[in-house]
Amino acid sequence: MRKKIVAGNWKMNNDINQTETLIDELLAKKPEHTNAKIVIAPSFVNLQAAVAKTHGTDIIVAAQNMHQAESGAYTGEVSVGMLKSLKVNTVILGHSERRAYFGETNELLAKKVDTALSHNLTVIFCFGEELADRQSGNHFNLVESQLREGLFHISEANWSSVVLAYEPVWAIGTGETASPEQAQEMHAFIRNLISEAVSPAVAQNVSILYGGSVKPDNAAEIFGKPDVDGGLIGGAALKANDFLEIVKGIA
Ligand code: PEP
Repeated sequence: MRKKIVAGNWKMNNDINQTETLIDELLAKKPEHTNAKIVIAPSFVNLQAAVAKTHGTDIIVAAQNMHQAESGAYTGEVSVGMLKSLKVNTVILGHSERRAYFGETNELLAKKVDTALSHNLTVIFCFGEELADRQSGNHFNLVESQLREGLFHISEANWSSVVLAYEPVWAIGTGETASPEQAQEMHAFIRNLISEAVSPAVAQNVSILYGGSVKPDNAAEIFGKPDVDGGLIGGAALKANDFLEIVKGIA
């Protein structure tokens, strides 16, 4: 059975006090059993506190990014070893904001993926088309090239450490969501692509999350689609009640 996952990407929000308060709220309000694994991704500077707060719980703490090099003269960057030393074992790579504002290419992401996997991190690999790609009908090609160039070089064994997050850029932070049918159509395309390019077993076992303006009122319908295994949540992950309502959308 594929893992169901709901991950909150907190982006550049929440100082240390807000981080701790939000985690306290999540822990207080979270039901003991949830059908989805819960992941939260605070900013780098708050990871240590987040790991301490969630110690002994089933909430997983992820980083939002990392550098591809092991160490060195890369001012302002954070390495895989630094994350591991904080007991952060999951990293989001390839978020559309990293691609758009920080020039992260498929080629660069392939290196980051290799570094993360070689240190046994779980990678939440994000990709998705811009509005112009969808309007021109190029969205399947675009997604295929992001996956082929950024990810498909990994070994079959490493796929067990990969979670995919399909995030159409036009739906991120815009309030506009892909319809459940659009999400399902793309997720089925991705699974089929993986089945052909990697193996049917990998395709069946990899979790594919949907991201893009998921809210409490649309989560259940999107998550109800057979190839949608959960969500990557931005804005709505900053409110404990909304985030936990979304988690409840996993049947
Ligand atoms: C995201 O940034 O990954 C995201 C899905 O954001 P939002 O939920 O705010 O659209």
